[in-house]
Amino acid sequence: MIVTLDPDAPESAADAIVALAGRFPGVTPRPYAFRGATQSLVEVHLVGETQAVPVEPFEGLPWVRSVVRVSRRYRVIGRHAAAGAPGGSSSSLAFEHHGVRFDESSVHLIAGLCAVDTRENVAATMRALRDVGITTTRMGAYKPRTSPYDFQGLGKDCLPWVLELAGEHGIRLITMEVTDPRHIDEIEAALDAAGHPAGVMLQIGTRNAQNFELLRHVGQRTAFPVLFKRGMGITLEESLHACEYIASEGNGRIVFCLRGVKTHLGEPHRNLVDFGHVPVVRRLTRLPVCVDPSHSVGRADVAPDGLPEIFHVVGQGIIAGATAVLVDFHPSPRSARVDAAQALPLDQLPRLAEYVKRVRAAYESVVALAGG
Ligand code: PEP
Ligand code: MN
Repeated sequence: MIVTLDPDAPESAADAIVALAGRFPGVTPRPYAFRGATQSLVEVHLVGETQAVPVEPFEGLPWVRSVVRVSRRYRVIGRHAAAGAPGGSSSSLAFEHHGVRFDESSVHLIAGLCAVDTRENVAATMRALRDVGITTTRMGAYKPRTSPYDFQGLGKDCLPWVLELAGEHGIRLITMEVTDPRHIDEIEAALDAAGHPAGVMLQIGTRNAQNFELLRHVGQRTAFPVLFKRGMGITLEESLHACEYIASEGNGRIVFCLRGVKTHLGEPHRNLVDFGHVPVVRRLTRLPVCVDPSHSVGRADVAPDGLPEIFHVVGQGIIAGATAVLVDFHPSPRSARVDAAQALPLDQLPRLAEYVKRVRAAYESVVALAGG
């Protein structure tokens, strides 16, 4: 059962729900706070033996906006009430981190290095982002590689100068993959030492999509939002259950990222593009949806119309309602130490930024056909 409070309800309103829930044996109340720039929303989830718990006493408490019984599936991330109903647990789990708001109203282009290699390349990439007014980037410090002999990323050593350069270039948010809780400690220490010039969003890579201990841990590190990549060899449903591990621990600030699935049927692409699942994820969950065309397509080939194939796949995601796009760039793609084949050169960045704007406008125009 989910009890949703009115926006900006006082803390005592949640306390009253927790106290009432305490009268029902076998029921554990778990409050979740979703804080935005202008509003904060609190939900209290009642878990356990809730079948016999009546909704009316909860509905009668002050500041309660709605009380919804939910199925066990996707309890926190799920879109439970009738689609389109105002508020309640049908509304999106929008959130803000370091001034970057993830919701359904705009698209963020998160462009940057798959793997941090040199200070010069990080600086050149951030300069290119600043020149087009982008404040969101990806910078991989910890790289999970198929072979132990391949470059594993610079790890914590690069964090001080990556954060320093982010501050210099007005970058507000960096997505960074972590594969171990120690990485999060290192990121936290580096952020503290640098005075938090930017925020970090923890990326859970496709290879860890079902690393349940890591997911639970990230779920407890509520200071960091999470970009969760779907598992490349599991069903969408399994990926959503995995994502729920993060949310059920108390961290609801999650962006769900589609990145293609592994099958030879996708060739010549690296993975089979799965962006037809964007509206499915939006229907089943309340999470903002990201697409990663770089790891789906895996190559920077240019189509006969002059646009990289990666652009066309970005378009598939945005026209289906995705509100974030994660793209690999590199100042000299051929020298990139990880995923060189898919990195776009920086001179494509202004074009991609404009492309994203135009396809988003097309999405807004076609969605108006629904009359909503
Ligand atoms: C990445 O984004 O750098 C990455 C390794 O992606 P994925 O986990 O989707 O393969
Ligand atoms: Mn990569």
